[in-house]
Amino acid sequence: MLDVSAMQKIYQGEGRSVEAVRDLTFRLDEGELACLVGPSGCGKTTLLKCVAGLLQPTSGRVSLAGRPVTGPPPDMAVVFQEYGRSLFPWLTVQGNIELPLKQKKLPKQQRRELIDEALAAVSLSEFAKSYPWQLSGGMQQRVAIARAIAYQPRVLLMDEPFAAVDAQTRADLEDLIRSLWKRFQMTILFVTHDIDEAVYLGQRVLVLSSSPTVIQDDIPVDLPDERDQLTTRGAGRFTELRAKVYEEIQNAKRGPVSAQKL
Ligand code: ADP
Ligand code: MG
Repeated sequence: MLDVSAMQKIYQGEGRSVEAVRDLTFRLDEGELACLVGPSGCGKTTLLKCVAGLLQPTSGRVSLAGRPVTGPPPDMAVVFQEYGRSLFPWLTVQGNIELPLKQKKLPKQQRRELIDEALAAVSLSEFAKSYPWQLSGGMQQRVAIARAIAYQPRVLLMDEPFAAVDAQTRADLEDLIRSLWKRFQMTILFVTHDIDEAVYLGQRVLVLSSSPTVIQDDIPVDLPDERDQLTTRGAGRFTELRAKVYEEIQNAKRGPVSAQKL
């Protein structure tokens, strides 16, 4: 579904260049939920922007369902970390969700149905007519998620989407993502710097090395598919997996390993 091959990204600035991503190769199968973790500044956002077609890689290839990504693909949605800024303050919740659907040229009746369904999925049905600034941070983030869901993307990219919400809301949003993933069978690439979150959510955890970035490790999460905050996080296997991811991130901080490890 998503194929990233030998991707490199060098930022060119006034007289200096920063190699943010050196050599990234990985694939996501259709319907997979993979988490990507790595030290802060290692290039996670850069990678996501390249995958979303918002940035052009310096070299290498990104393709989606067999087609090269040259601009924002129509069947992809992105939820950014700074959800507050990603919602338009002059539009209602409903208006925000509707905007990309209008760009997709969907008829009004269908737009209505998608909006209602997405708002119900994130438990915000009563807030359709509210403005984003009338809502709490966690609710705004749910609006951003509803907007992505209503769009019916085949691929959903999320960049540390829960970094700014409190612990309880975060746990609820994690469960929401897993249930929406099961229900809509999207392919999800979820970026986080939170190891526990990566293991809890993912079927797979990709660990990035520090910048210039390569894939340090690709760890399958062999936890049961039915997850819940208490049982899953209390399981012995969960503890083992997070220790393994932690260890890989520590190794990653010491510097890139050879990409041939994969
Ligand atoms: P992460 O999301 O993992 O924290 P980023 O992708 O934001 O990392 O950044 C990776 C590296 O690229 C960092 O060293 C950062 O300073 C650099 N970088 C990010 N954006 C730019 C830019 N527009 N111009 C120059 N350097 C950048
Ligand atoms: Mg980032």
